Amino acid sequence: MTEILATRELSKSFGGLAAVSGVSLAVEQGQVHCLIGPNGAGKSTLFKLIVGTYPPSAGAVLFRGEDVTAARPFQRVRRGMSIKMQQPSIFRELPVRQNLHIALQYHADRGQMGEEEERLLELLGLAAAAETPAGTLSHGQQQWLEIGMALALKPALLLLDEPTAGLSPEETERTGDLILRLAREGMTVLVVEHDMAFVRQVAQQVTVLHLGRVFARGSVAEITADPRVAEIYLGK
Ligand code: ADP
Ligand code: MG
Repeated sequence: MTEILATRELSKSFGGLAAVSGVSLAVEQGQVHCLIGPNGAGKSTLFKLIVGTYPPSAGAVLFRGEDVTAARPFQRVRRGMSIKMQQPSIFRELPVRQNLHIALQYHADRGQMGEEEERLLELLGLAAAAETPAGTLSHGQQQWLEIGMALALKPALLLLDEPTAGLSPEETERTGDLILRLAREGMTVLVVEHDMAFVRQVAQQVTVLHLGRVFARGSVAEITADPRVAEIYLGK
């Protein structure tokens, strides 16, 4: 198996707070890898180090065989990374289709944009809502649109930070189905998630972060059977 992404002893401090400490992570090409851990564990910060929002205090990020630690975020996007942040990034006043159109401008050929819009609308289950202002969609639909905007960049590695936050169990399962479909088409997905049912549905590999460090890693079965993992969620 080939690693598409690796972090080497990656660290980030904010003043005196070590949000991420010495994290070495390997994501295999074509897998769905879930990053879990209690609130404040450093998951979102790790994502921001991977995509280049923050420079690390120490360590390195390797992507598709290249050291991208010094690369700007747009350069990482060009090499095939795309992220859905925890904070919303859709244009609420604009119709769904227009949101996708804007995201597609970064990558698609002019001649193919219409086709790509339709393909994404279908994939996301948003075809009937294409002309609806994004801000009036249900919360679940807004999350799918966010994922679609990240997908518009045609990434090799899709990073999703809490894509199921606030979703119903049905919407969560649909999000899982979408991720599994993307994985079948060959995409690698790294996802921060809280919902263990969702992790069971999609993950091939799980990394547990706690207090900025890798606390455990393994398959879903290994992680869910580990009593130490249950303890950190109970705050012990
Ligand atoms: P998670 O996503 O796992 O909940 P975060 O990565 O958001 O955790 O945060 C990890 C720790 O770093 C938290 O203690 C948080 O308060 C702190 N932190 C995150 N971002 C910043 C920032 N920009 N400035 C200062 N502290 C931050
Ligand atoms: Mg977070």
